[in-house]
Amino acid sequence: PATFKPTQWPTEYKETTQRWGANPQNYSQFGLPGHDGLDIRAPLNSKIFAVAGGTVFYVGDRIPGTGTVSNLGWHVRINHVDGFETIYAHLANDSFLPRYGQYVSAGQRIGTSGNTGNSTGAHLHLGMKKPPGDYGWPYNLINPEPYILPLIGAPPPLPPPTGIDLADFFFPADSNLFGQIHIMKNNWGAGDERVQLQREGNFSYVTKNNNWEKRLVGSSFIDLLMDTSPSESEYYTVSGHWLPRKMTVGQNFSRTEHVTFYSKANCAVKAEYDASSTIKFINLHNTWTNNNIILNNVAEFAWIINGLEEEKYFFAKSLGLVKWTSRRGLESSIWELVPVGAQQNNKRGTWCGIS
Ligand SMILES: [Zn+2]
Repeated sequence: PATFKPTQWPTEYKETTQRWGANPQNYSQFGLPGHDGLDIRAPLNSKIFAVAGGTVFYVGDRIPGTGTVSNLGWHVRINHVDGFETIYAHLANDSFLPRYGQYVSAGQRIGTSGNTGNSTGAHLHLGMKKPPGDYGWPYNLINPEPYILPLIGAPPPLPPPTGIDLADFFFPADSNLFGQIHIMKNNWGAGDERVQLQREGNFSYVTKNNNWEKRLVGSSFIDLLMDTSPSESEYYTVSGHWLPRKMTVGQNFSRTEHVTFYSKANCAVKAEYDASSTIKFINLHNTWTNNNIILNNVAEFAWIINGLEEEKYFFAKSLGLVKWTSRRGLESSIWELVPVGAQQNNKRGTWCGIS
């Protein structure tokens, strides 16, 4: 059976200008973890070629199936064997564009570099898709580099974009399943909380007494799945990405999450809605102090709704949440670090069968 294997470099210039996944700060506004393709040098009016044989299923400057103008500008989409799709973007609207339904062979000219769409200088943006896509990427997008870079003998793909790996703030140290316990005190009269990070595979639990926040730590995103701690009477589930797994200080991440609140008493849905907000990675403190406890590597985040900073979170490496404040003046913070082994691990409560 045929397998997808590009044989033709798609431009006249064997040089890349922006790698897959690069510059996450420019792409989070589009719900993307980074650059969603491979940019290749292609000066204005230079030739663009199909990387492999296939059938053209879109030629135009819209998002297919809609009237919306695409950031890709004039572009060509080709279906290949094995469910692969390639996209050639920022082309000129000229007579070198193929026709819808046309079969093109590898190396056949399919256009001209034209700097159309959201482009700050002529280049080819090469996108690639294959269901279900790379983990954490929407629209079935995959990294084209393993298929394309061998054509110019380039070194193997670089690791994902640099940034601080937030997984370190949600897993106990050294692949342990249970982290060190700390005590948090609050200013609203509720009892102390014993906070402990717990790990099950790629799932992180920030446990607070018997309540917990559960997150899936994926390769590209961290998703908050569930939180049983808003009150003793309710818990909520969330769908949608919480944060990119790797972020740089100063980076914002905006998203819309679907939130459902349940009653712990009878498991009934109490409220359900979509919530749009932004989380900003404000700072990574090399040393950070609270109640004379000195911690290293504390990440500070702000939760912003409609431009207002509603809450702040501080997460310490290998410890999890160490401080929380709200715009209305509520505050909870680390008060005591319990020596390792001096207390039993938190036991996670169960309500309505969730765990
Ligand atoms: Zn691009």
